[in-house]
Amino acid sequence: MTFQEIKEQDGQYILRTYGRVDVALVKGKNARAWDADGKEYVDFTSGIGVNALGYADPEWAAAVAGQAGEIQHLCNYYYTPQDTALAAALCTAAGMGQAFFCNSGAEANECAFKVARKYGEKRGASTILTLTDSFHGRTLATLAATGQEVFHKDFQPLNPGFLHVPGNDLEAVAQKLDGSICAVMVESVQGEGGVVPMDGTYLQKLYALCKEKDVLFMLDEVQTGVGRTGYFYSYQQWGITPDVVTTAKGLGGGLPIGACMVAEPLRDILKPGQQGSTFGGNPVVCAGARVVVERVSKPAFLEEVKEKGEYFCQKLQELPQVEAVRGRGLMLGIRLKKGDAHDVLVKCAQRGLLVLTAKDLVRLLPPLTITREDIDEGLAIFAGVLAEL
Ligand SMILES: *Cc1c(COP(=O)(O)O)cnc(C)c1O
Repeated sequence: MTFQEIKEQDGQYILRTYGRVDVALVKGKNARAWDADGKEYVDFTSGIGVNALGYADPEWAAAVAGQAGEIQHLCNYYYTPQDTALAAALCTAAGMGQAFFCNSGAEANECAFKVARKYGEKRGASTILTLTDSFHGRTLATLAATGQEVFHKDFQPLNPGFLHVPGNDLEAVAQKLDGSICAVMVESVQGEGGVVPMDGTYLQKLYALCKEKDVLFMLDEVQTGVGRTGYFYSYQQWGITPDVVTTAKGLGGGLPIGACMVAEPLRDILKPGQQGSTFGGNPVVCAGARVVVERVSKPAFLEEVKEKGEYFCQKLQELPQVEAVRGRGLMLGIRLKKGDAHDVLVKCAQRGLLVLTAKDLVRLLPPLTITREDIDEGLAIFAGVLAEL
């Protein structure tokens, strides 16, 4: 099909929930992709931080294809070596106790909320505190948790039991911890909220405050996790172990998987029948995710992510049209002195570079395996687009 045919069929049969850009990718290799008409792109998006190892990584693709040819699914009444092996590798790398596997970030957060409610149940604490400008998903509970009005509009009434406080403000949290709160959930860098990093000291103090008040400290690492910030999970740089960690996007290397991990003291908090997922722990997805976890959790791999992130920052800050660059590792937000971020995204795509936006920033989430050559080529296109604003 040509691009025009794809676009027409999409408009006819796909519910228009996305503001799509005129690109249809049909093939990729690491940070390079090709569209339906054969045009080449440099990819600074990796989906939205999903293709951690880039497009069509050979080792990942072989693990997935190999598993599909053995057994593709079995119900969760039976044991699966692929999901147990993944859970062992993931929990070990994360310093967590146990994992529940599901299929997306929102589902991972739903599970975290159930853990939190169960934890607070005995003393009647059921409210979950999240931050202004947070993003936790689009299901009804995660929508209520999301601290952005724009997502709530048209979907009232929201699920009760969620309160929002400003980020990087410990006092705002302290004022709310009155015994009705069972958990606090935060992103260490708010992704959809505009690539807003939370200070390390704020997170450490928040963690200590939660411990003191017997409130669960839950980190939504759906976007920041699996190497994105230069650490396997971002909290590992601050010496804290959250009670609950949720992870998804990069974990499957491009296939749908989410996980809610609980720390050792919460072992077995949910009992048989209290949580489940038909597809959760699917062996094909888990086989791919294991390749991702094994590769990304290696210190040398994470060191390279940090170096590439610093290189990006330095090169971007040299561009005269760039006002500020923020983020951590390969999760970057670029504030421009002038011009509209979405307009920049469209112009970049026309010239063969894929970027994202977050609020009014240009956002970059390149594959963790991107090469220096691809970074340089993509940045040259980006500089060209900015120069014409
Ligand atoms: C993307 C995202 C989610 C939602 O993940 P889905 O897989 O789209 O459900 C939740 N939290 C954060 C921080 C995210 O970036």
